Amino acid sequence: MPNINAVTCPFCGCLCDDIALTVKNREIVKVKNGCSISESKFLGYSNNRLFKPLIRKNGNLEEVSVKGAVSRAAELLVNANYPLLYGWSSTSCEAISVGIELAEELGGVIDNTSTICHGPSELGVQDVGISSCTLGQVRHRADLVIYWGSNPWSAHPRHIERYTTFSDGRFERSEWKAYLMKTKASNVKKKVQSAMRRTAPTAEIAEAPAPILSPCPAILKKGRKLVVVDVRKTRTAEVADYFLQVEPNKDYELLHVLRALIREEEVDVDEVAGIPIEHLDEIAEAMIDCSFGVIFFGLGLTMSRGKMRNVDAALSLTRDLNRLTKFVIIPMRGHFNVSGADTVFTWQTGYPFAVDFSLGYPRYNPGETTAVDVLLRKESDAALVVASDPVANMPKKAVQHLVDCPLIVVDPRMNATSQMADVVFPSRFVGIEAEGTAYRMDHVPLPLKKVVEAPRGILSDQIILQRILSEVKRLRRKKRS
Ligand code: SF4
Repeated sequence: MPNINAVTCPFCGCLCDDIALTVKNREIVKVKNGCSISESKFLGYSNNRLFKPLIRKNGNLEEVSVKGAVSRAAELLVNANYPLLYGWSSTSCEAISVGIELAEELGGVIDNTSTICHGPSELGVQDVGISSCTLGQVRHRADLVIYWGSNPWSAHPRHIERYTTFSDGRFERSEWKAYLMKTKASNVKKKVQSAMRRTAPTAEIAEAPAPILSPCPAILKKGRKLVVVDVRKTRTAEVADYFLQVEPNKDYELLHVLRALIREEEVDVDEVAGIPIEHLDEIAEAMIDCSFGVIFFGLGLTMSRGKMRNVDAALSLTRDLNRLTKFVIIPMRGHFNVSGADTVFTWQTGYPFAVDFSLGYPRYNPGETTAVDVLLRKESDAALVVASDPVANMPKKAVQHLVDCPLIVVDPRMNATSQMADVVFPSRFVGIEAEGTAYRMDHVPLPLKKVVEAPRGILSDQIILQRILSEVKRLRRKKRS
């Protein structure tokens, strides 16, 4: 059985590139080093698979040849005035590049999934600038790690183990053992409490004093510290040395108070966002005292009230801290190549998402040229969706217009969007059946390997898009002549 090492996991923005796979009879049978999500992706990628291109006839999807599907898709796109090309974060940079060329040829609008996740981060970075670094530097040097509005324990399961608190860096040691001891102690405490509940009379338990909210001594400990800021106690918050439970939609206020405390300005209130000011004082002190701090922020910051202004405030806090120590900030990107989509968009058009070619040159105006806004205003008259499922996650009214217009889908699986499409292309899984390039959340490009053969007749996203593009060019030439 061949073993394939150093495979990059094509699931989340961590892009862990140390996965070892065992392949037997052209199937992946064992996954080493991956988290449970990665295992499920590699072992279950062929579930709900599409094997033949489909086009809708008399209301039903019927099988056709690739050539037939390419002709139909090109015809729908050429006949549209303002097609929308959407998705792109779960495919290779090579495919994205062809997609942008296609959008330009058609004079349409192209957007990627940043528009509904870290779009505000892109806007914030354009406003303030960003002080950043690679995850390798974080692993070796960061002695203060802050997760703000993100829960890597569940969404990026190897982030803490590979890059931050539980990783053994060159200059910073892993806090894994300390965490195990803490967990053991907490389990013992829980057992004692449960035994007391069983033996003590109910009245006594009811009268037990409420815990006093006092600053956590762990923030003063030596070695790496982990701080979590979130609206609820997540699994990541449970392993943290310090958890700040911010009131929902109050991140902006909290960030600005931290900025004020760091600049030693007077803050004339007892609490902010539900957190006593003395706790915030401790965090501000820990931020100033660290040698290398990092903030990882997620959708809890970018998609709560304030959106890009929250990101502005977090970037400004990082900038302020750099006057006193070394501090960086990195967005926690979700889809494995959403950073790649932003990067390729920027290379080719100058803008990271929501690019409009209707005037013959790239134009970018989030709020106007973003996919959801285009759909809500019913401006697009056809759509091509690549490696995404907007029907499952966009607002209902936007989805309504998306499916009312001709819809073409390129995806390895039958999902909610493919079921509503007029043309469906089955494609190879990038990073499993097709190679390519993807960008990690810290903008490090990594190669995606082909580890098994795709079912016969199934092409990669890149080849499918290239074929649609040549057919579109041919039809447009014919139309002009
Ligand atoms: Fe894959 Fe993400 Fe898990 Fe790493 S953390 S193995 S990239 S799913």
